[in-house]
Amino acid sequence: MKVLVGVKRVIDYNVNVRVKSDQTGVETSNVKMSMNPFDEIAVEEGVRLKEAGTAGELIVVSVGGQASQETIRTALAMGADRGVLVKTDLATDTEMQPLSVAKLLKAVVEKEGAQLVLLGKQAIDDDSNQTAQMLAALLGWGQGTFASKLSVADGKALVTREVDGGLETVSLKLPAVVSVDLRLNEPRYASLPNIMKAKKKPIDVLEPSALGVDVTPRLKTLKVVEPPKRKGGVKVASVGELVDKLKNEAKVI
Ligand code: AMP
Repeated sequence: MKVLVGVKRVIDYNVNVRVKSDQTGVETSNVKMSMNPFDEIAVEEGVRLKEAGTAGELIVVSVGGQASQETIRTALAMGADRGVLVKTDLATDTEMQPLSVAKLLKAVVEKEGAQLVLLGKQAIDDDSNQTAQMLAALLGWGQGTFASKLSVADGKALVTREVDGGLETVSLKLPAVVSVDLRLNEPRYASLPNIMKAKKKPIDVLEPSALGVDVTPRLKTLKVVEPPKRKGGVKVASVGELVDKLKNEAKVI
């Protein structure tokens, strides 16, 4: 079985993001970039499926600029077999939007004949949480979102999802799309020998037009601003004072 994983290059989660002065987006030049953390979890799960003999080949796909090759290499060093870069000059945090990414992934899935697609539940730059759902709809496949446990056997994927009331398990007939949540696994660090080996693994580079996909943005970002600064808190001496403040200052009770 071929498993395909989507990996997005985003601003590293430790970076203090700065809004551009012209309010068109956030500063991405000279900023540390990394693989979207949920995608690391998706890659790890794919590698585990390979190690268990469930997946025959693990392919990682990234839609982005030339630098997204680095993100693909990281996934290859974790254990994926080969990569596909769908190259674009569009900014992936604003202009290359989830519907376009889903259409591109659909084209790659069909080209490769993949049977299981693992994506992150959301990209931490656009926080869209849309790509997996759109991809499943475009392919006409089942979807299991926010997986905290996954097992694949007998042409089925069992996906455990954390819902409000507890844990829900759904059974999907393969082929299917699964989006992964934080508690699914702990991604491994790539070892030095595996980083060296990854340099030799193949990466195909494709253009969106070669996949027959129109990636013109559908949404326009009007402006991006910083969140309002938090006001400092106050310490109260007693419960009585707290109740008084809530009643008379904050007027919430
Ligand atoms: P989103 O819908 O933008 O929150 O993204 C959800 C997931 O879709 C991500 O965690 C990735 O697995 C995948 N994805 C989104 N954008 C890209 C991209 N440019 N390249 C590869 N995968 C992507």
